[in-house]
Amino acid sequence: MLIFTKIDDLRAYLSRERSKGLRIGFVPTMGALHPGHISLVKIAGSECDIIVSSIFVNPTQFNDKSDLAKYPRTPEKDIQLLTEAGCHVVFMPDEKEIYPETDNRSFKFGHLDYILEGAHRPGHFNGVAQVVSKLFSYVQPDKAFFGEKDFQQVMVIKDLVKQLDLPIEIISCPIIRESDGLAMSSRNTLLSADERKAASIIPDLINQAKILKRSGQSLQSIKTTLIHQLSKDPIYRLNYLTFCNADDLIEIQNFSDAKRVVMLIACYVGKVRLIDNVVFN
Ligand code: AMP
Repeated sequence: MLIFTKIDDLRAYLSRERSKGLRIGFVPTMGALHPGHISLVKIAGSECDIIVSSIFVNPTQFNDKSDLAKYPRTPEKDIQLLTEAGCHVVFMPDEKEIYPETDNRSFKFGHLDYILEGAHRPGHFNGVAQVVSKLFSYVQPDKAFFGEKDFQQVMVIKDLVKQLDLPIEIISCPIIRESDGLAMSSRNTLLSADERKAASIIPDLINQAKILKRSGQSLQSIKTTLIHQLSKDPIYRLNYLTFCNADDLIEIQNFSDAKRVVMLIACYVGKVRLIDNVVFN
């Protein structure tokens, strides 16, 4: 696997590969890689000839600077995992390479800026758009692969390529989970043993929601049942647990209000903020 830290070197290499007619698949990450990330690399490999990944903890998408400071970083292990997964190129720039000067660009994503992650992490999606638009311009992939765990982010990225008229296909990939169902996340490593145990309530709530929906319970009563469980232990601090139309993320009150429904949850377990979601078909 080739490792690049400079934009010019990455561009030069990829333009040679592109001129051979090879299709480029791109998996952007913030590192501290786990099997969820690796699943994206594998899917990229099944659809493209050259797999490019990036590792960059993007400061502009962190509205909370202490969250940025404690974000896990494991570069050596990441390189090993990407190599084993068959990744061809990893781009690992430092902050000066990506932001030689302050990025003052402002991206707008309509209601997505003001709901769910947009509401709880002001400026987050603008930061994501800043870095992803830069990375897209360096890599110029045919396809880019994103995890459905960040459900709203996938919508933002699809909107971004539309706004910028980029010929990049955005592929959303399924959530990879731990054996107890907890969605894999770099942030899981920040959980204490007790918090890790407590975090399994999130997949439990998802499973309950599925079962209760199948038994015909209303959306409102399911929502009340689930939220009540989180209120029983102060280790949990719920940001949101909500049901939306999966196609536009508009909140709904009844399952019949949308063809495809997604339940999204964001909850602190101790000091660690976790997100998850499930789409009901
Ligand atoms: P991150 O490093 O957290 O920015 O994530 C990089 C990419 O990996 C994003 O597209 C995430 O949605 C995706 N990802 C993170 N966790 C998972 C998971 N458990 N399953 C599938 N994709 C994931």
